[in-house]
Amino acid sequence: MGLGRSSALNSFVPLSAEPLVVVLIGPGGVGKGTVAQRLLELDDHLWLSRSWTTRPKRSTEHGTEYIFVDRASFEAAIDDDRFLEWAEFHGNLYGTPLPTPPEGDDVLLEIEVQGAAQVLDAYPDAVVILLLPPSMGQLEERLRRRGDEDQHVSMRLSSTPEELAKGQKLASYVVVNDEIERATHEILSILERLRQLRRHPS
Ligand code: 5GP
Repeated sequence: MGLGRSSALNSFVPLSAEPLVVVLIGPGGVGKGTVAQRLLELDDHLWLSRSWTTRPKRSTEHGTEYIFVDRASFEAAIDDDRFLEWAEFHGNLYGTPLPTPPEGDDVLLEIEVQGAAQVLDAYPDAVVILLLPPSMGQLEERLRRRGDEDQHVSMRLSSTPEELAKGQKLASYVVVNDEIERATHEILSILERLRQLRRHPS
């Protein structure tokens, strides 16, 4: 299985306001990135964190998806405590810088499960949403469509059952990405309910 080491962060990381911290997880290819972008388009008070990665840029990527760095730079940032969480996934490092949302915005993270567990350690009130594919066949098709090589597709599919099992344990909500607009609106309704609860805690 390709999931590797990850850091253990147990301390609470203070934020200036009291934003919601929403963590979108789900197997590679499920459409987290697309749903996250659509959420940003429809919700003016959501701020998406930009991750660092040591993964090479895909031919289908523009270069703005991540801060693409080499391993030495990433490891230097770990040593400087610049990440809220980080994890090794299929041989590459991925990490969320300490969040700096504009005042009044809620925080959206789009990460894998090891990172989500660390975020819950830092922010126990964080809300984890697991995005599921309608079927494994569709997941494979999406992985191929985005330009992953055959061996990467098989590697990623092989870790999906474990990612899903871990994800189910962490998630407060499960949303099936059968259709981007529908799944996005389901998540927007979840956010609306959470914001109402924050305004009027019961
Ligand atoms: P990909 O290589 O397909 O862009 O991403 C691989 C996995 O890493 C995806 O599940 C993605 O959500 C996750 N990921 C992206 N950024 C981060 C991050 O900052 N931290 C962690 N832990 N995972 C991340």
